Formats: sequence, C-alpha cells, structure tokens
Amino acid sequence: MRIVALAGGIGGARFLRGLLAAVGPQDEITVIGNTGDDIHLYGLKVCPDLDTVMYTLGGGIHEEQGWGRTDETWSIKAEMKEYGVGPEWFGLGDRDFATHLVRSQMLTAGYTLSQVTEALCVRWKPGVRLLPMSDDRVETHVRITDEQGSRAIHFQEYWVRLHAAVDAEAIIPVGADTAKPAPGVLEAIAAADVILFPPSNPVVSIGTILAVPGIREAVAAAPAPVVGLSPIIGGAPVRGMADKVLAAVGVEATAEAVALNYGAALIDGWLVDTADEGSVAAVEAGGIACRAVPLLMTDVEATAEMARAALALAEQVRK
Ligand code: GDP
Ligand code: CA
Repeated sequence: MRIVALAGGIGGARFLRGLLAAVGPQDEITVIGNTGDDIHLYGLKVCPDLDTVMYTLGGGIHEEQGWGRTDETWSIKAEMKEYGVGPEWFGLGDRDFATHLVRSQMLTAGYTLSQVTEALCVRWKPGVRLLPMSDDRVETHVRITDEQGSRAIHFQEYWVRLHAAVDAEAIIPVGADTAKPAPGVLEAIAAADVILFPPSNPVVSIGTILAVPGIREAVAAAPAPVVGLSPIIGGAPVRGMADKVLAAVGVEATAEAVALNYGAALIDGWLVDTADEGSVAAVEAGGIACRAVPLLMTDVEATAEMARAALALAEQVRK
C-alpha cells in the first residue's frame, strides 16, 4: 500500500513512528513535510519540522523535548552569547548544528532542499520517503499587536520566544502563493492508496502545506481516501498552543470545528478522541465519516493503534 502523510513536527513525527509500527515492509510511506517553520539563523537554513521527522524516525531525537538531538551539548550557543549574538530564545545545540551546516553547504552548492533532505536521510534512514512540501522558500509569519504596534513576526519568534502569549491576528505563509510543490509531491498524492493527516497543527503545519498552490487541489482530487486525526482533545491541543493559531483563522479549538474546517471536500474521514465522542454526529453531519478512538500518543503501540484505526476508517470510506 502507498500511504502519503502530510506532517508538521512533533505531532506528525510521533504519529509516523506509530504508523511505521502498524504497517508492513511492503507498504511505502511518503511524508510531505511542512517547511513554513523554516528559519535562517547565522547564515544557516534550519528546517525544524523536517528535522523533527528525520530525527524521530531515525532514532536521534531528544525524546522528552520532542525536538532537537539526543545527548545534546550547547557550546556553540554559549560562544555565540559571549559575542552577544542571538537569538537566545532559539535552541540550536552542537549536534543539531551539524545538520544545518550540511544542509546550508549543500544549498549553497546549488542542490535543492529536496535533494538535501534526501542526502540527510541517507544517514538517518527514517523508513519513509521524506519530501519537503516545496523547494521554494516559504516562511510563516504571524501578525500581532504589542507595545511596538501592529507587525508581522516570524512564526518561530511567535511560538518559541513569545510562547503564543499574544493573540495571533493573522497567519501569513509568506512565499506560499508563488511556491511550487517539490518534485514528487503531486505525483505521490495522485498515486496514493491512502492519504493521512496526522494530528499535526491544522493551521501552521497541515494548513501551510495545503497553502502551496496545487497541493490542496491534488489532495481533494486524489482517488485515495483522506483520513485525519484530531490534534485537539476535549477542546484543547494535547501539546502546544494550536488554539492560538486556530483563533487567528476563526476556527474553534475543538475536534469537530477542525474537521469541519478541513471540510468534506478535502477529507473523507476523521478520528476524534473518545473524550470527544459527543462530536461524532456533528462531524458526520458535515459529510465526514467519524469515529471516536483513543488518540493519545502515549507510546509507540498506542500510536500504532491510532494508525490502524485511521487505515481502517480509510477502507470504510474508500469509494
Ligand atoms: P509541531 O510542528 O512540532 O508543532 O508539530 P505538529 O504540527 O506535527 O503537531 C502539533 C500538534 O500535535 C499539536 O497541536 C498537538 O495538540 C498535537 N499532539 C501532540 N501530542 C498529541 C497526542 O498524543 N495526541 C493527539 N491527538 N495530538 C497530539
Ligand atoms: Ca512546526
């Protein structure tokens, strides 16, 4: 079976680990990763979501943190601080730096982000084909109003420095309107047997991928069933501040509202947590098949069970 999954960082990566445990060796998984979180620091290109997927599936992730490398050290960051060079709020450890150096060196030499990602994956062997959503530069910005007035800041500044404590007024995927899907992305979607939306952030992860012209249209037109899993349980994100960016796009932070915002034109099936069993009928009334199953990714086996439930629902809605 050919499975295509759109993925952000932690939520996407953890789900993919369960999916890999649930499928067989004959199944092929293509992951279309969000690059809207990418940031240029110290002349280096940092791709947080691609790296989280790569490190998580390749066994190099810092488990508790959910991002960055295991057994990390911070000498470079300390040295930068001595020079008074920030940003201090963004954590790039020494081992992680190597990834960004290799990536940036290859990009400077003329390779595309897809080619670089493939090269990095030679080391990490994530067990999936990892494609960036686009080789073109896309950067999510967030409009806020603070003591400096109304302005747009980089998503990482909003998320990591401000912890989304200020209201987001708009989410702007800068560059998305002219970006092209990376090679292989549209082909993988068209050839998929199943398309999955892991419980990734619906706005700044999945939403950004869908904002690349052609990708939303390809998913909607794909013959494969499309099934998503809710990142919202009991009216709140399981982890992080997804409610803040959902509010910016006028969507309530509920499993039901997120499903209906994707809409029946895009997704055929939706999984909510058992805590949200009460919203199944409303999702189904919106034309989306819905089931309530445990959706907490407490360990790989629990996550594999979620993946099995998503694949089972895909079979039920297959046209
Ligand atoms: P990010 O790029 O690192 O923010 O990661 P993603 O966009 O891939 O995923 C973030 C989303 O994962 C958040 O909105 C969380 O609510 C969701 N999430 C994290 N852990 C769990 C879990 O155990 N179960 C579910 N259903 N969602 C989760
Ligand atoms: Ca992210």
